[in-house]
Amino acid sequence: MKLFKLRLPEGARKIIQVLNQNGYQAYAVGGCVRDSIIGRVPNDWDIATDALPSRIKELFPRTVDTGIKHGTVTVLTEEGSFEVTTYRIDGIYTDNRRPESVTFTSSLEEDLSRRDFTINAIAYHPDEGFVDPFNGIEDISRKIIMTVGDASSRFQEDALRMLRAVRFSAQLGFDVHDSVIKSIKDNNELIRNISYERIRDELTKILVSKRPLRFALLHDTGLLSHIIPEFEACFSTWQNSPCHIYDVAMHTLKAVSYISDKSTLRWAMLLHDIGKPLTKTSDDRNIDHFDGHHHVSASMAKKILKRLKFDNKSLEYICRLIEHHEITIEPTPAAVRKAVNLTGADAFHDVLEVQGADIKAQNPAFLEERMKKLMEIRRLYDEIRASGQCISLQQLAVNGRDLIESGFEPGKEIGRVLDYLLDKVLEDPELNSKQKLLELADRLRTCR
Ligand code: ATP
Ligand code: MG
Repeated sequence: MKLFKLRLPEGARKIIQVLNQNGYQAYAVGGCVRDSIIGRVPNDWDIATDALPSRIKELFPRTVDTGIKHGTVTVLTEEGSFEVTTYRIDGIYTDNRRPESVTFTSSLEEDLSRRDFTINAIAYHPDEGFVDPFNGIEDISRKIIMTVGDASSRFQEDALRMLRAVRFSAQLGFDVHDSVIKSIKDNNELIRNISYERIRDELTKILVSKRPLRFALLHDTGLLSHIIPEFEACFSTWQNSPCHIYDVAMHTLKAVSYISDKSTLRWAMLLHDIGKPLTKTSDDRNIDHFDGHHHVSASMAKKILKRLKFDNKSLEYICRLIEHHEITIEPTPAAVRKAVNLTGADAFHDVLEVQGADIKAQNPAFLEERMKKLMEIRRLYDEIRASGQCISLQQLAVNGRDLIESGFEPGKEIGRVLDYLLDKVLEDPELNSKQKLLELADRLRTCR
């Protein structure tokens, strides 16, 4: 690979210069160097130095103690903030998670040797160029993910690295080296020592990446059986149905790749059919059915997302998308209003997105017709919204108090009457006036 100069942000360049002028080494290191070589825009620029944290704080007027115990100080400059970390060696690992202690060192090579993959263990200096003792640049050009040193030992130190390997493969489109795959297979159960929050964050990165199909690597390596064992059966559940051409897992991962890369949408897609293996039946023509799978999927998703420590709001929203992913909506204004009321207006667009991605991952023979129908539903919904029509109880022109004032007994019946009125208004928005609705309610009472 022809080596070139990397363009460092001004702030990072100045920090390196100040450290150098004061007699210290300083390099850009890790993900930013890797991404710049590949041509991706780095998330952030990290700087490694032999200056101790106390010296870093003396040299720069504005700093924050981000991870001072591990040697990380954030330096604030006019051009943004940068993490500056003292070269370090990790102490022994006893829990497959974190080192017992860290020791500062003055050797850049030692610092690079504690890093997980060769592609993440390259340093760069604006004048000196690259420092690459583990041939990370060659691995970038070969598009290979390879550990620094013996894979099994590195995974035994920190089991999260196994997931990071799959994550980088999904983000960068690199292959995980065969020997590394083998080590993950040998050590996969160690992932159980990692917190679900950290596992969740890596899984999300895989799902929102450009290559969510690489999620299948988690199955191939045996990691998935320790993280989301419920998903495993999807890989062996075939769908003999005119709608489908893939097994449940392949259909699911294709659907993930077809939906936009918002994390809630990707998670909803990942779990939308997870109830299929449990609900599968075959009829006398050998056609498979999965009755009620949307509901089973939603309740399984709830358990899985709880285990993965999702916040309540995201959990509720993802499960709502899954619960409604199968609803049939006719392209008529009344049917669309009813569907919106069912899913919640906040989720309706996303339910349509989920349905679109689901369709795209099914038999292409039905694609055009179904997508056309979805587009018509979306158009109708936009019209409904633009005209401010009532699609929920909150928008109904009467409320419980109005009904009580007009003579209804407080209690359960109020709720039932409101639901009845809403149903009428969803059919015909013209009815949404206080007078008309109270008349309707009155008629209902006298009918009884
Ligand atoms: P991104 O920021 O795009 O997620 P990154 O490579 O910068 O990717 P970070 O988690 O920000 O990843 O870590 C920065 C660097 O620290 C990595 O490039 C790697 O050199 C090192 N590193 C991070 N986590 C580990 C780990 N678990 N084991 C060993 N080295 C690690
Ligand atoms: Mg980073």
